[in-house]
Amino acid sequence: MQFYNLLLLIGQAILYFTVMVCLLQSRHRIGLGVFLCALGVMHFLETYLASVFYIALPFGVISPGSTVLFSGKLMMILLLYIKEDAAIVRQPIYGLLVGNFLLVGLVMILRNHQTLPLIDGKVPDIAFIDEIGWLMIWGTTLLFVDSIGIILLYERIGSWFRAFPALRILICAMAVLTFDQLGFYVALRVISGAPIEVLYGGWMAKMGAAAVYTVLFVIFLRLTRHHEARSVVSLGVGDIFHVLTYRERYEQLLEAAGRDHLTGAYGRSRYDAEGPRIIEAAVRRGQPLSMLVIDIDNFKLINDSLGHTAGDRILKKVSDVLMANLRSDDHLFRYGGEEFVVICERLPKEAAHSMADRLRRTISDAILKDEGSEVTVSVGISAAPADGRSLLQLFEHADRRLYSAKQSGRDRVCADDAAYASAPA
Ligand code: GH3
Ligand code: MG
Ligand code: MG
Repeated sequence: MQFYNLLLLIGQAILYFTVMVCLLQSRHRIGLGVFLCALGVMHFLETYLASVFYIALPFGVISPGSTVLFSGKLMMILLLYIKEDAAIVRQPIYGLLVGNFLLVGLVMILRNHQTLPLIDGKVPDIAFIDEIGWLMIWGTTLLFVDSIGIILLYERIGSWFRAFPALRILICAMAVLTFDQLGFYVALRVISGAPIEVLYGGWMAKMGAAAVYTVLFVIFLRLTRHHEARSVVSLGVGDIFHVLTYRERYEQLLEAAGRDHLTGAYGRSRYDAEGPRIIEAAVRRGQPLSMLVIDIDNFKLINDSLGHTAGDRILKKVSDVLMANLRSDDHLFRYGGEEFVVICERLPKEAAHSMADRLRRTISDAILKDEGSEVTVSVGISAAPADGRSLLQLFEHADRRLYSAKQSGRDRVCADDAAYASAPA
């Protein structure tokens, strides 16, 4: 029976993890909101389970709410941070805090209603809210501290465990879940009178969950070629907290711009905000980086002959084709008008050249104007550090080469100042 319980738990962890990482991985296509809502909606269930739903395992009594769902959520928050950054991860951290407090506040008002036993004479049992309400408040506050804690710890120990990513994740998960178990048990003890076995059993289970999730985590990061775009290991804890909590300029830029409405690509402000950071990180790590500046050929003619609406549609299609054909290390921005910039991490110039040529051919194969002729693009390429170490320098080089691609006939890629742009195949 206990073994059967263990199997069920592992099944839940795998299901939870798989669905959540699929949502996370699809965030560029379906939006991050889907992942965040799924993350948030589990909180009520996990608190409810943690207050009343216990099962026996070989090493003690545990709650699947804490073991699978709560531990899983903390891992998801860490994963979101690794995949995105502090400015993004603070959204669920604050959202869960405010949302759960709001929920409890609303229930406090709601329970004062005189309800009607309309359905099969059933009356709602709001009494469980008395227990779970305080647990929600306490659990959410703990989660807030845990979430910040796991990210701080992850960054703090980064320099020691760079070669052992699995160990780094495991240590963070174990340390924070241990802290959490102590904190949550205090509340369980006071509110629900939970026996001491719940502390030990829950702790063992959380350690097991940390191990299982770490394995899944590492498999996932391997599969998705995780990259550390924002290492803040050299900062002190105070500084990291500052970075986490007060990235005002970054946040403002994100809010002001985000994605461009027409194409769905990141807009110019995002380019200005993220471009320098991406380039600086690559140069610091000594990794190759390339930039493509892509401009649609004779777009004015398309607008003039087919109208602006058709022009818009073609612009969107070009952006879609680009998005569908980029690697996870590539960052696409609509620079302005019908001009796109792709910043390609870990891509040397020669590889960027073949990629640009492939994109150019894919676009002309995939997109036809209404009268049947192809839509073509020209591309200029630059690479760091050879062409410069700043966003502006790289852009200027790539833009000049784009100009020579246009000069030498369009529908081609130019990666070199001296050479003629490579003609279309
Ligand atoms: P070239 O091959 O030299 O790039 O020729 P071009 O006609 O594409 O020249 P240019 O890049 O200067 O022209 C860009 C045109 O794109 C001008 C502008 O009217 C049009 N454009 C810019 N933004 C939009 C947009 O959002 N929608 C539409 N439909 N057209 C746009
Ligand atoms: Mg153009
Ligand atoms: Mg242009």
